[in-house]
Amino acid sequence: MDAIYTRRQIQRVLIVDDDRDIRQMAATVLELEGFEVYGADDGDHAVLLFKSMRPDIVLLDALMPVVDGFDACRAMRDLDPGGDVPILMLTSLTSAESAERAFDTGATDFITKPINWVLLAHRIRYALRSSAVSKRLRTSQSRLRHAMSLARLGHWRYVYESGAIYLSDELCAMFNLEADTSLTVAQVHERLHPADRTLVQQHLDRINDHGEAQHLEFRIALGNGDEHMLAVLAEQVLNADGRPCEMFGVAQDITERRRIEDRLAYLNHYESLTGLPNRVLFRDRLQQSMLEARDQNHLLGILFVDIDRFREINRTLGHETGDRLLRGIAQRLQEHQEALTTLSHRGGDEFLVLLPRLQHAEDLARTARGILGALAEPFRVREHELYLTASIGMAMYPTDEAGPEELLRSAGVAMYRAKEFGGNTFQYYRSDMNVRAMERLATEAALHQALGNKELKLRFQPQVDLQSGRPDGAEVLMRWDRPGHGLVPPKEFIPLMEESGLILSTGEWLLAETLQQVQTWRAAGMAALRISVNLSGRQFNDPALIDSVHRVLDESGVEPGLVEFEITETTLMQDVDRAIATMLYFKTLGIQLAIDDFGTGYSSLAYLKNLPVSTLKLDRSFVHGIGRTDKGNTAIVRSTIDLAHNLGLEVVAEGVDNAGEYRLLKEFGCDRAQGNFIAPPLAASEFPAWLIGHDPTDSARWDASHGDTSAPPAK
Ligand code: C2E
Ligand code: CA
Ligand code: CA
Repeated sequence: MDAIYTRRQIQRVLIVDDDRDIRQMAATVLELEGFEVYGADDGDHAVLLFKSMRPDIVLLDALMPVVDGFDACRAMRDLDPGGDVPILMLTSLTSAESAERAFDTGATDFITKPINWVLLAHRIRYALRSSAVSKRLRTSQSRLRHAMSLARLGHWRYVYESGAIYLSDELCAMFNLEADTSLTVAQVHERLHPADRTLVQQHLDRINDHGEAQHLEFRIALGNGDEHMLAVLAEQVLNADGRPCEMFGVAQDITERRRIEDRLAYLNHYESLTGLPNRVLFRDRLQQSMLEARDQNHLLGILFVDIDRFREINRTLGHETGDRLLRGIAQRLQEHQEALTTLSHRGGDEFLVLLPRLQHAEDLARTARGILGALAEPFRVREHELYLTASIGMAMYPTDEAGPEELLRSAGVAMYRAKEFGGNTFQYYRSDMNVRAMERLATEAALHQALGNKELKLRFQPQVDLQSGRPDGAEVLMRWDRPGHGLVPPKEFIPLMEESGLILSTGEWLLAETLQQVQTWRAAGMAALRISVNLSGRQFNDPALIDSVHRVLDESGVEPGLVEFEITETTLMQDVDRAIATMLYFKTLGIQLAIDDFGTGYSSLAYLKNLPVSTLKLDRSFVHGIGRTDKGNTAIVRSTIDLAHNLGLEVVAEGVDNAGEYRLLKEFGCDRAQGNFIAPPLAASEFPAWLIGHDPTDSARWDASHGDTSAPPAK
């Protein structure tokens, strides 16, 4: 049974009649049939009851004193405009006129008097059921209309005989036409997009010729200047004789859907940030080019370009600046893009270049060099001037692996290799690189345990005051005592720590450990010595660094004046303004600052004048071979020392490994020196013995031992 009809178990009948006997009789009969019956003796009372109790059905006497049934019916309909409650008019008038009047006032049906009491309950049930059905129909029709308008769906009919096309209300609304408008074939044709006319005609012919239903999509002018996309499904309708008489179709406005689909297709194939083809599209093109290369027997190459230290830039300058920079990079790469190549943004700071046709492997290197050159010009993003380098991995087909995925992976592996060389370079893929890549993963995993497992060790490399020959300080250098591998040099794990961020916690640990060691020595009576600690780029740019240094210094009780931070010039150049702010902070704390690896970056001495640094560390690559083999380096070192002194900077030479270098540096006026000739990096337990062996009061012996022999000084 239908839901509306049974919703209320017991149904209420309101019987309105001024004749008490009729009311009572009705109540008796209907209550027997399971209805609940309420009575009213005049129209006014009836309307009040109607309002308060909401009966399921009303039996209403037409003729009553004061307010008659017709007026009461009208009043009830005002309260129930949807006509949900059936009202049966009781009338003894059999004339057509009174029936008409009854319907006019909104009655559902009428029952003639005298009432047939036997049939009354049936009449009532019937009226209730049909009212429920029509109510459902009304709801579903309005839902359908609503759904059709939401779906922008309508229907149409093309009557062959008259040649008229009838549009549903929804379509008329869609086309900005009055409801019930019909159009001629020519009028519709006119509205079709000229480029789609032939296509539509072909479809219509196919429906007519073969009677098949057809789906088609075409553009149409809406009459208000807008062009919309319609999807139409049409078929032929046959008359009783089986002959085609009309065409019936549904039409949907799919403009919005099309727009979304187009956008999705775009997003599927282009990176939203840079607008460059994304990795999906790149992969497709790569696959296509690989097929061609195989058929036509030529070489193809790809470049995997990854911006060095991009994560750091993102972290320090914020993602918005990072995004701008990426757009800038994409643009720069596009400007330098060679013909026929595909440039793609793989996501993040990774770009791919496809060179579908190579003469020689050397072509790849040439392109890579071009890209590095293009990126070398500084980028201006907001107030920042940023210097970028990239690491590029290169793979070729058919020289390297088989499928597109493998080729991309190989290029990625080669890119990591380029990173291991310090970035700003490119590498061809070689098959043994996979082995290295696996090793690297294993190293990374082991490194995460290193700090917790106490595998990280400190070494202290002494520094001497060149002029007096006295021990003057020490640089702290890290070692990793990796189980099964022995002592691993920092070159092999510090870059990995940088990338994973491990360097942050490790760096804090190292500083605390160092300062604690200094205090232990002091307690044992050792003279105060300056201690130099290396800060990596990631540490230096970490917003939490200042707090962490502050805390660790406080806890240790070591005077800040004894601490020197070494920062490489490449780190400083990344964001000069920020670097200066951080350095000034350290300077006010009393911490000394040295520029490490000086001479390997781009900064000029004149530039250093603006930085709050006190010391310059000459890179060991310059120091190496001065005096004997390398005339050029000798000149550079000498003038660098002079210029640095003019700027009020102290100069430390590192990597001093023989007596000749030592003597020359002293002669040039260099302030401090450090190197294997003086002492290799020492364990904390070895350091005091070395210091005692070089008793500052015994400086005569110290200097004397630096004759022309290259033997290290006696311990
Ligand atoms: P660096 O800061 O330039 O450190 C000096 C490097 O030169 C040390 O290498 C040292 O052992 C080496 N050296 C000293 N004397 C001589 C010599 O006479 N000849 C030669 N050829 N080399 C000499 P090490 O210990 O392998 O460290 C390499 C680099 O690793 C360091 O270069 C530094 O950049 C980094 N590093 C080491 N320890 C730490 C650390 O605790 N934190 C950070 N952030 N970086 C560190
Ligand atoms: Ca250093
Ligand atoms: Ca150095």
